[in-house]
Amino acid sequence: MSLPAIRQAMVLTAPGTPLLWQELPMPMPGPEQVLLQVQACGVCRTDLHVADGDLTQPKLPLILGHEIVGTVVGLGSRVAKFRLGDRVGVPWLGQTCGHCRYCRKGRENLCDAPGFTGYTLDGGFTNYTVADQRYCFPLPTFYHPVQAAPLLCAGLIGYRSYRLAGDDVEHLGIYGFGAAAHITVQVARHFGQQVYAFTVPGDHATQAFARSLGAVWAGDSTSKPPVALDAAIIFAPVGALLPAALAAVGKGGVVVCGGIHMSPIPSFSYDILWGERLVRSVANLTRQDGEEFLALAPQIPIRTEVHPLPLTAANEALDLLRRGLIHGAAVLTMA
Ligand SMILES: [Zn+2]
Ligand SMILES: [Zn+2]
Repeated sequence: MSLPAIRQAMVLTAPGTPLLWQELPMPMPGPEQVLLQVQACGVCRTDLHVADGDLTQPKLPLILGHEIVGTVVGLGSRVAKFRLGDRVGVPWLGQTCGHCRYCRKGRENLCDAPGFTGYTLDGGFTNYTVADQRYCFPLPTFYHPVQAAPLLCAGLIGYRSYRLAGDDVEHLGIYGFGAAAHITVQVARHFGQQVYAFTVPGDHATQAFARSLGAVWAGDSTSKPPVALDAAIIFAPVGALLPAALAAVGKGGVVVCGGIHMSPIPSFSYDILWGERLVRSVANLTRQDGEEFLALAPQIPIRTEVHPLPLTAANEALDLLRRGLIHGAAVLTMA
């Protein structure tokens, strides 16, 4: 197969400005890298936080996108895990140092010197990219590439958040019903749990979407669920939801903040934390999370609700996400 000399990409040159369509030289895979022809790349809220400047340390210029589904079209000299033609997924965790105190304890999601796809490393809003094979996942052929893309962050981070909510959960609240939530509700249902979905007040369309995926209750984030929750996951980047979720969980309940960025959290009185309630965040993913979740997804099977858009519509996709107009996940497709 002959490869082109140039690739097309949507490039962030400065936070707060639209992505620019550019033609760039083809990347050459390093010894541990695969060269991928990208089929699809999901659009995640984190992309929005990078584009808008909420996350302040991007490489610039930058190709966003960390839910990449691609076919291997080139191999670095040390790549043994993949062959030409394999379908792989590239997640947010693109590199770790391997020797910091966190890496040594198997907590690579907390690495002190990580590389993140579509943030400190170029990502997938392009038709060709390179990725370190050690952080790529073989993808189940069960899924169409467009449907697989949201599994790679919305699915993975949702799954890690879900696990950290605890084992003994009967009633699970989910605040913010976007891409991660629409996958997590399917995991929770699979394990026989009842899901309560909280949305922006008055967003009846999203509440109906949550019920269609099996939520037993859906309502405004300002309202109380009909039962005390055992745990709640907050996917929306809204700090005011933290005290609301704490007030909705019962004694011993866990509130997991699943996002990478959150607006300031208002102060709250100790009585809603009292009773051994716990608040924690989720940061990134480990490769083990990915292996577990990608094996589980086709067994359930998780169905992703996707909104495909061409690569050139990346700005439109980000804007739809910003305005809360996507039910499920936006995915860019490469012609
Ligand atoms: Zn490390
Ligand atoms: Zn993401």
